[in-house]
Amino acid sequence: MRKRVVVLGCGFGGLKTLLTLHRKGGRHLELVGINKRPFLYNYPILPRLLTRSLPEEAVLIPLQKRLQGTGITLLVENALAVDASRQAVITTQGAIEYDYLVLALGVKAKSVARGEETPLFFPKSLRHLYQLKTFITKMLQQGGGGASFPRPKLTLAVIGGGLTGVEFSACLRAFLDQQTRALRLPQETASLLLLERKERIAEECPPEVSEAITHSLLQQGITLKLHTDVWWVEQQLLLSNQGSMQADGILCCIGTEWRPTVDLKELESTAQGIPVNRYLQVPQHPSVFAVGDNAVFRPHGVEIPLPRRASVAFQQAKTVAENILRDIRGLPPHPYVPRPLPLAVTLGPHQGLIEYRGWLTVGRLAGKIKAYYETCCL
Ligand SMILES: Cc1cc2nc3c(=O)[nH]c(=O)nc-3n(C[C@H](O)[C@H](O)[C@H](O)COP(=O)(O)OP(=O)(O)OC[C@H]3O[C@@H](n4cnc5c(N)ncnc54)[C@H](O)[C@@H]3O)c2cc1C
Repeated sequence: MRKRVVVLGCGFGGLKTLLTLHRKGGRHLELVGINKRPFLYNYPILPRLLTRSLPEEAVLIPLQKRLQGTGITLLVENALAVDASRQAVITTQGAIEYDYLVLALGVKAKSVARGEETPLFFPKSLRHLYQLKTFITKMLQQGGGGASFPRPKLTLAVIGGGLTGVEFSACLRAFLDQQTRALRLPQETASLLLLERKERIAEECPPEVSEAITHSLLQQGITLKLHTDVWWVEQQLLLSNQGSMQADGILCCIGTEWRPTVDLKELESTAQGIPVNRYLQVPQHPSVFAVGDNAVFRPHGVEIPLPRRASVAFQQAKTVAENILRDIRGLPPHPYVPRPLPLAVTLGPHQGLIEYRGWLTVGRLAGKIKAYYETCCL
């Protein structure tokens, strides 16, 4: 009898797991993907959308189309719970039983503490991105005559100088330049602050990468404020350890957090996510795996912090697919060994940075490679 593998969440990790299973053992498996939306949210491409209009299918990748001809069943449903004792996922339409389950539910954007109804923009939302663009355009148009502009300048702040904050800052600066040029306003009409609490930008990267990114952002006219820990935002006021600051619009890029969208019942879940062992299995539940942003890799009970990146989700998806197939064949699982990954960063509409094992390049070619990867990685 064919074994049923249910993949919960069809983002980068979930979809890659399904496609790898299909490619390596498809005929012997019944593959079911459950996703609450009919598309995959292509997060890495979002910063680029500030300055370019891209076909909707590049941003919200239609899952049904991607799975065409594979025989994989896609259920567009909101999963409610996992009942591991019954080996079933509970959805609004009923229970779906599984032989193997892969949890790939992703994580949510974290918010800085803020006053009630203080508007913030978040990086994991296409709606917020469009709202931010409209907001900027409107504010600049209001100020087109100079005298009517409410303040001498439009100031935007990006909180968080990790890679997401960096990519959005670079693309936001380019968007501001585009808009001020179109309205024949001086470039200084719009300023952009990037606030980071640590001592360098992109602290998770090697120092030479941080340095190259910092150099590029400064050249673009972005004001960097390091050692700045924003602890409260109230309307247009940001309060930090460095005092208060004003900004008309605020984009909050302070990272992501695990907020379960599904009741996992007896499956262990911590504040960081779902702990997994060296085979990416949920401990005590060898037929349940977790991949991608929701997985906390703890090979010997010790958490190994891995970046929440699509490239990590891809590696893990491959290991999980192999381990499911090995289990069906009665073979022991293979441990997941994180491999060094190339780092690709968008530094504006045409600029980028690529780093791999100490080799570093910044410029247009790197920008092209990154843009290509964003549309062709699946
Ligand atoms: C702005 C931005 C830029 C980024 N740039 C890069 C980059 O350049 N390179 C890179 O490697 N990484 C990048 N990342 C990170 C990358 O997007 C994530 O690491 C990746 O999406 C993780 O994949 P995932 O499968 O774990 O989760 P996700 O892709 O978030 O997928 C989770 C899926 O689960 C579904 N789901 C959740 N709850 C339920 C439920 N209850 N029922 C049914 N379905 C559910 C969601 O709809 C979603 O489809 C970026 C992230 C952001 C926000």
